[in-house]
Amino acid sequence: MSYDPNNIFARILRGEIPCNKVYEDEYALAFHDIAPQAPVHVLVIPKGEYISFDDFSQTAPAEAMAGFYRAAQKVTQMLELQPGGYRILANTGADAHQEVPHYHLHIFAGCDLGWMIKRGLV
Ligand code: AMP
Repeated sequence: MSYDPNNIFARILRGEIPCNKVYEDEYALAFHDIAPQAPVHVLVIPKGEYISFDDFSQTAPAEAMAGFYRAAQKVTQMLELQPGGYRILANTGADAHQEVPHYHLHIFAGCDLGWMIKRGLV
């Protein structure tokens, strides 16, 4: 599978579609999810063309990876998500229902987020 340059996050990165921006630097862009599933639901995306966690982890230069994860941590700091805490999630592929084929982290916070995953899957 090759990277689709017209996926919605690629279009947000190019400024073709607006987003509710939280943070941006040379490595990452963070913005509020359009359909929040928690009081705080922010997406963090790398600036390069990476489809998924697998793709990013295997092909991104070390500097891009460090910059991206530092940016995500900066977002949690800016939003003052401690001491309550937060959850970071990265859907990868069909079983995880990854909808947008541009690697992204979901950051959820602002309430008791419940158990890690729906019970009863096994
Ligand atoms: P995933 O299922 O992990 O690929 O999640 C994709 C997320 O992107 C979903 O939570 C959507 O609500 C969110 N989303 C889709 N389009 C937009 C948009 N234009 N702006 C912000 N969030 C979006």
